[in-house]
Amino acid sequence: MNTQDYINREDKFGAHNYHPLPVVLERGEGPFVWDVEGKRYFDFLSAYSAVNQGHCHPAIVKALTDQAKRLTLTSRAFYNSVLGEYEEYVTKYFKYDKVLPMNSGAEADETALKLCRKWAYKKKGIKSNNAKIIACEGNFHGRTISIISMSTDPDARDDYGPFTPGFIIIPYNDLKALENALRDPDVAGFLVEPIQGEAGVFVPDEGYLRKSYELCKSKNVLFIADEVQTGIARTGKLLACDHEGVRPDILILGKALSGGVLPVSAVLADDEIMLTIKPGEHGSTFGGNPLAAKVAVAALEVVKNEKLAENADRLGKIFRHEFSSIKSDMVELVRGKGLLNAVVIKPKNGKEAWDVCLAMKDKGLIAKPTHNHIIRFAPPLVITEKQLMEAIELIKEAFKLFE
Ligand code: PLP
Repeated sequence: MNTQDYINREDKFGAHNYHPLPVVLERGEGPFVWDVEGKRYFDFLSAYSAVNQGHCHPAIVKALTDQAKRLTLTSRAFYNSVLGEYEEYVTKYFKYDKVLPMNSGAEADETALKLCRKWAYKKKGIKSNNAKIIACEGNFHGRTISIISMSTDPDARDDYGPFTPGFIIIPYNDLKALENALRDPDVAGFLVEPIQGEAGVFVPDEGYLRKSYELCKSKNVLFIADEVQTGIARTGKLLACDHEGVRPDILILGKALSGGVLPVSAVLADDEIMLTIKPGEHGSTFGGNPLAAKVAVAALEVVKNEKLAENADRLGKIFRHEFSSIKSDMVELVRGKGLLNAVVIKPKNGKEAWDVCLAMKDKGLIAKPTHNHIIRFAPPLVITEKQLMEAIELIKEAFKLFE
């Protein structure tokens, strides 16, 4: 089978809910992936920042395979010998009293919403069914019905209503709007991405997170950070909130919590919040399974041992500096933090971000447009400086094709 055969088969038998770049990958190692024709690429998407530790990291794969031979799933109907070890490890790592394990990022976001509502009724004293949660325009928290009820993206919402009530949507990076919304006494939480990833790597003004947090505190409202994409070293700190010394009341993690090996997500909070959820009220068959528990410990160890946050911080600065020297009238703007960056593309002669991605693919680097005119550049954080410079050369060569 060649590339086109693989594509045709997916097209015929799979739902058409994605529009992939025409490349068929079959192997990965570190910052690289190889296609079915044997061609090597720099992976500059990292599975939407799930593969921060690099593809098939040997320590994570070893944790996976060792545990897979012993016990993979018990459900939470019984205790298992690994979950407690993970719970202790992850809560100490992120400095929270408790963790609630789930699988996908969307599930963790749903969990955080439920936890916030429960806290509103049990602790804050909001009248039953009246709690509201503030979210931001341009957000991306996943694809479930409740989550798209907060979305302002027509692609996520159109023809999927009716929607879940109880959300107040305000502009991102707008403290005045937050202050106004917080006047409503039924507000229980403020859900925010420290950097809006899917929206195109929108980095808010310095101080926005800290001031938002303080505004929330002044109204006894939970500050809930969705760090599914920004967390786990991606932006040059363990958490993007760390850039402003903010400790979220509820922290949502996913993606790189497993280094991309299997779906592992988590919600972290202190007892006052987490213990409002009682047995039988929330959960998931696969959440907290022994395989995920072992993998997550190994994935977080790699982040610490290989100093991935430091690497992301240092290489991110080099990336933005090098990119700003690219002489192309298609490059409108470069922005980001650590190794979560985006370039805003100005179309030229009918050529758009998609065409640039195709050109980069031909040169040996894969990335994907978000919202038509933005390309996100987010390589695995294990990339070396030498590899990064090599990758930037490929990007430069691709842009030259449009001169
Ligand atoms: N939250 C954020 C900030 C995300 O970027 C994503 C995915 O891109 C999600 C939640 C949803 O995660 P998942 O696709 O694992 O459900």
